[in-house]
Amino acid sequence: MSDVRAILHCDLDAFYASVEQRDHSEYRGKPVIVGGAPGERGVVMAASYEARAFGVRSAMPLRTAALLCPDAIFVPGDRDAYVTASEQVMALFRERTPLVEPISLDEAFLDVTATEHLFGDRESMARAIKREVRERCGLVISVGVATNKLCAKIGSDLRKPDGLVVVAPGGEAAFLAPLAIERLWGVGVRTRELLAGWGITTIGALAAFDREALETRLGEFGVAIWERAHGIDDGSVTPSEDYVPKSVGHSHTFFENTLDTRTIESTLLRLSEGVGQRLRDQALLGRTITLTLRVAPFETRTRQRTLADATNDDQRIFHVARDLLREALAEDREGGHISPVRLVGVTASGLVGGEQLKLFEVARHNRLNAALDAVRARFGDEALDRASAKSLKERRRFSGHKSR
Ligand SMILES: [Mg+2]
Repeated sequence: MSDVRAILHCDLDAFYASVEQRDHSEYRGKPVIVGGAPGERGVVMAASYEARAFGVRSAMPLRTAALLCPDAIFVPGDRDAYVTASEQVMALFRERTPLVEPISLDEAFLDVTATEHLFGDRESMARAIKREVRERCGLVISVGVATNKLCAKIGSDLRKPDGLVVVAPGGEAAFLAPLAIERLWGVGVRTRELLAGWGITTIGALAAFDREALETRLGEFGVAIWERAHGIDDGSVTPSEDYVPKSVGHSHTFFENTLDTRTIESTLLRLSEGVGQRLRDQALLGRTITLTLRVAPFETRTRQRTLADATNDDQRIFHVARDLLREALAEDREGGHISPVRLVGVTASGLVGGEQLKLFEVARHNRLNAALDAVRARFGDEALDRASAKSLKERRRFSGHKSR
């Protein structure tokens, strides 16, 4: 087996906004801004590519975004939907290799060195992952393929959206050379300005700079970025167990705000079934049930109840959520201010159980068994133990029946 590593960096494109467009066909092809109402104080959490064309960016105040793109569809954001989508995508990654290191909900490193011979070469594996994320999750992903994390990460970002950049082994320094210096890890605004003062604006210029001179001027940091500029990065992909949720929830936004109790309750039943299913899938039980009601336009209320014994039963969850709903509506009626409901949600928290390590659940799948064997053969049991040791800690925490 070759000693050259095969690392993939997989990054979903405009993740939150893409989930919104996937789940609401009426948003497709339109500028979508996730974060809240246009007049609110908050910032943009994500913007669809249609909104980015107007200059809207993440972390920009919502009010600025509204000035740039007044016709955009503004949505508050649905964290449960994003977490669910992320779980699906990460599970798909783990079918190709157990060495998956999630960086955030929409981003992960995969070490496929030991498994690439099972699925074809690294590039066809990247193409297959892109295709499956599209077909099975309805989302678009960019992938960088390289011998290390640094080049894979920079690669995935280069041709977004729907990008695929493959850096050939040995071609790392040449790949980086023409790129702007700020693409390099560790180079922020201050370092960029400092380097610009020495005539360094590309990664190639930094690589060509005298190593000792950099060390004298910037110390260890100077050596570190000089090595990176040469495409050197030995950092390993550290697998972590499947995302262990603090809570499991589902919500639904009504197309038109509603006051119809029957509509809200039947929606609540469907949501409760979804929550129960996900709890059972992960061998979890929830102790606290929370009802979320968002009334027009963006006021959110929650009510919760903690049960004597934890549950993952659909009917049980539904009955608690329905009681909470009826209490909330009765209180409104007494107060004489009934506002139509825009969104309803059910969440189970105070989770206990989780005896199944998901890694090995998925491993029942034949091809992953083959992948696990290949990783063991190459890296030894240690590579897999790192993942399970962490999970064991989580399980101990769970067995103390403490919610996280
Ligand atoms: Mg992303």
